[in-house]
Amino acid sequence: MPRFAVALFVVLALVLSASPSPLAAPAAARHAPKLVVILVVDQMRADYVEKFGDHWTGGLRRLMDEGAWFREAAFPYMSTVTCVGHSSIVTGALPRSHGIINNELWNREAGKGANCVADPDTTLVSYGSPAKGAGTSTKNLRVPTLADEMRAQLGAATRIVSLSMKDYTATTMAGRRANAVVWMSLSNKSLMTSSAYAAAPVPWVAEFVKAHPVESDFGKTWTKLLPESAYSYADDAEGELTPGDWTRVFPHVIKGKGDQPDSTFYNLWDASPFSDAYLVQMAETSIDTLKLGQSAGTDYLAVSFSALDLVGHSFGPRSHEIQDVLARLDIVLTSLLAHLDKTVGRDNYVLALTADHGVSPIPEQMAALGLNGGRVVASDLVGRIEKALEPFLGPGKKVVRLTYTDLFFDRGIYDKMRANPDAMRAALDAARSTPGVGRVFSADELASAHGMSGDDIENSALVNFYPSRSGDFVIILQPYYQLALGPNTRTGTTHGSPYWYDRRVPVFLLGQGIRKGQYLTPIAPLDIAPTFAFLCGITLPAADGRILNEALVGSNGR
Ligand SMILES: [Zn+2]
Repeated sequence: MPRFAVALFVVLALVLSASPSPLAAPAAARHAPKLVVILVVDQMRADYVEKFGDHWTGGLRRLMDEGAWFREAAFPYMSTVTCVGHSSIVTGALPRSHGIINNELWNREAGKGANCVADPDTTLVSYGSPAKGAGTSTKNLRVPTLADEMRAQLGAATRIVSLSMKDYTATTMAGRRANAVVWMSLSNKSLMTSSAYAAAPVPWVAEFVKAHPVESDFGKTWTKLLPESAYSYADDAEGELTPGDWTRVFPHVIKGKGDQPDSTFYNLWDASPFSDAYLVQMAETSIDTLKLGQSAGTDYLAVSFSALDLVGHSFGPRSHEIQDVLARLDIVLTSLLAHLDKTVGRDNYVLALTADHGVSPIPEQMAALGLNGGRVVASDLVGRIEKALEPFLGPGKKVVRLTYTDLFFDRGIYDKMRANPDAMRAALDAARSTPGVGRVFSADELASAHGMSGDDIENSALVNFYPSRSGDFVIILQPYYQLALGPNTRTGTTHGSPYWYDRRVPVFLLGQGIRKGQYLTPIAPLDIAPTFAFLCGITLPAADGRILNEALVGSNGR
């Protein structure tokens, strides 16, 4: 070939490979995925990937290398807790739209709270010993889930499976109906579903549970997977809370108080990598049994891994336990992804992995490093507010509930404060001047705010605000401070603040229609559901998130 022709050929080849044909469009409806998979790793901080990812070689590593990795994803709202996170991920909506503003929803009339998914019109359906009591549903969720809309809008049947170790995560990720929703009920010591989904145990789940009894892990030992040098920070660190008879250092034996499985055993098992491995096995069985992604239509599989959250609350984000749960999750996810490749086909499913919130370091560890951090004793804070109200409303108990950021006054009290601006000001001043408290908003202040200000903390409270459910006061502590139940609480940690350690989480996308790469655009996990809805060719009615077009093959002319 003459030199000129070679050059022309090279130029043409470059042009052709650089820009697809003008007809190329984002791969929506024309070719919907056969299976949508949403994986949530409860309490996974975004920086775990940055800090510990070098030691991963399996499924998490594959997401980093082959997936679209959004490194600057964060929740836009304040109440960074489990039920709010899962609700936002699967609806694509903000708490002010979907209405799940906390793990517990407080009923002002009844003067009591209930789990966000509790539904007295349903009953528990047990896979073990018989269980009594109300079941769960998403009736408190004010907008449909992605799975609900797939079921409603896609032409062919959509099979829906949602698995977790917690009732509110398994329930929320599904929606109104599903083929299987399963969680571990610690109080009943068995796997469970709700009559909202099945009037009787689902046969394939019952068979799985029988073939894989949780109790067969009794007496097993959780040791470190990686060489000692792979772990950052110290294994034995101040402020670590040790469940059961575990100590602050490895190894951890998964057993009860005696030689039989008791509630201690189930708690420790739940908080160990064994529970993550169990969920993966059950997920793979659901794929095989229901032939997920292998029939006409698009199916839906959601799994929420709870071990990291339980371990994180006890040992904190700097612990070797956290690093080991992640290293072991990396391994079991290798299996799940390989199973999806084999049964559904690498280019026939789309998968997201994210988290429902992050977590704060243990306050005592931050204080030991010379940073501000500590605990605000809940009864002290409440006492100061009640004391400030005494001159106006007389002595006595006035606050009935303080859960994370939401404080509720007893019936009628808040109305009296509204009618007396001096009383309102005194109570707000008392809360605001409590050591460790950062910001305090009254419900009226949030209700009368006209749109977003430049104040990020205030915005995070506004998008979290749902008038009939939010607290009368919203109380945000200073960074690295958290509420303590008693003056002697100096161990463990939590989340639920508008600070970035609670808000930043990873978002990975993988599979059909996804362009691999690292993306630094600030996004939110709320963008996953609208993106998957787009790939399925359907519309979510009330999503606040956006389509992550930058990570879609064929978008923006690329
Ligand atoms: Zn959580």
